[in-house]
Amino acid sequence: MKKLLASLLACIIIIAGFAQPAVSLRPKLVVGIVVDQMRWDYLYRYSDRYAANGAFKRLLQDGFSCENTMIPYIHTVTACGHASLYTGTVPAIHGIIGNDWWDNQINNYQYCTTDAAEKTIGSNTVAAGAMSPRNMLTTTICDELKLATNFKSKVIGIALKDRGGILPAGHSANAAYWYDSKSGNWITSTYYSKELPPWVNGFNKNKLVDSFYAMGWKTLYPINTYTQSTEDNVPYENKVLGSGFPYTFTQLIGKNYNPVLATPHGNTLTTLFAKAIINNEDFGADNITDFLTISYSSPDYVGHSFGPNSVEQEDVFLRLDKELGELLDFLDNKIGKNQYLLFLSADHGAAHVPQFLNDNNIPAGSVKPQPLFDTLNVKLKEKFGRDDLINAIINYQVVLNNSLIDSLQLNKKEIKQWAIQYAMQQSGIINALDIETITQSPLNSSIKEKIINSYYPKRSGDIQLLYAPQWIDDFESTGSTHGVWNPYDSHIPLLWYGWNIKPGKSNNEVYITDIAPTLAALLKIQMPSGCTGKVIEDVVK
Ligand SMILES: [Zn+2]
Repeated sequence: MKKLLASLLACIIIIAGFAQPAVSLRPKLVVGIVVDQMRWDYLYRYSDRYAANGAFKRLLQDGFSCENTMIPYIHTVTACGHASLYTGTVPAIHGIIGNDWWDNQINNYQYCTTDAAEKTIGSNTVAAGAMSPRNMLTTTICDELKLATNFKSKVIGIALKDRGGILPAGHSANAAYWYDSKSGNWITSTYYSKELPPWVNGFNKNKLVDSFYAMGWKTLYPINTYTQSTEDNVPYENKVLGSGFPYTFTQLIGKNYNPVLATPHGNTLTTLFAKAIINNEDFGADNITDFLTISYSSPDYVGHSFGPNSVEQEDVFLRLDKELGELLDFLDNKIGKNQYLLFLSADHGAAHVPQFLNDNNIPAGSVKPQPLFDTLNVKLKEKFGRDDLINAIINYQVVLNNSLIDSLQLNKKEIKQWAIQYAMQQSGIINALDIETITQSPLNSSIKEKIINSYYPKRSGDIQLLYAPQWIDDFESTGSTHGVWNPYDSHIPLLWYGWNIKPGKSNNEVYITDIAPTLAALLKIQMPSGCTGKVIEDVVK
């Protein structure tokens, strides 16, 4: 009897021991932040101007920085970046090979998240909400969190850009919201719900964009202190917002909700909406981990319009630093210090404006795919009798009209060879490669691997075009872009902060695809279904 009592007592002690929530298995909340078009060097380029209570200094000092985080595939654009980060794999496996692609099955262009089966919820703009994550073939880390908690975790993804909100949140998300630039509303699609929650309707009714327009855009500090950047209003800057600082937008109030995208107010709109989600959807309120994915789209719009060396871009990052610092304060107060896990990264970087580089004796230029497409088809007609042998030039690839070539029994090898020869004559194109035989090409092995990592046959082209370094796609004499393998597009920041993160930094080379498996290790959940990345040991030890 005594023995029985003793063992019963021992059992009670053991059970009580297990019930002690000494170390929680998971954080209350995960916040994933992607800054669209944030080059790694922006962490340091403006660092003497970042605020002590801003985010970048705090994340670098109190968090863990993976200084050499690279993108391991060739096509560095928004959709690929968000999908690869959250699925832990490359476009060849998750299937999101571009923002748009030529779909070889439907024989037409396809936008990454367009889904004709779904409808807009939250505005009357028909196309803006016909969206879903269905083109993404694998789960994201958010889906895995849902599966791990029997769908008790709440997951929401937000971004001004639809693809920046939809792809990270995954297939089983509670919601994804994005910005409809026609109505100025945050919207969603029937994929997620039949109506907006009342609080989102309330948020939209405030028409914050109008109050941002009333404020205009002045530089945060006196403009003569922006010595990191080229003087304002140079000829190669886009004039979409007007002619340089200070910008006034009062004429847009109630009329045009698009230009806000290319201003720092777009970031503020995103942060305010993120806070509203945490408040209204009770994120992080219990011990079941929730996941909020936030993508800041405005730095990308600003970068495209003004380039990485502009006062506009510098001002956007000085402001974002302060604003993200306030978001950290908000999370510390609301969720609790070290009760949430946060990471910050980017979907891609950006090239400098070619004219800016030329002005400084650095070689650069632009390739225009549309005229190349037109002339290629005309030239192929002279040789093979048809002017429709190429479907598209998209994502730096020539897409052959394979079904037509097969039905006419034309010599595909000869057509390819001919197109390759012609493309290589164009300035800025240093190589054109038959993707089918890429493994046999005499090409740098890491670039070869990046091409293979981007290749998904149903959505990819047949010939890969490689541009000279600093040469960009479709340059219209103003602004810049991104999309290639080179470091300016593929070297991104990666900072970890909060729950179970020890301060430090590493210069080991890691990849955007390593973020999801590292999250899986930290959260003790399965890696996403197509994951090929590796756990970043430095972060979890
Ligand atoms: Zn972009």
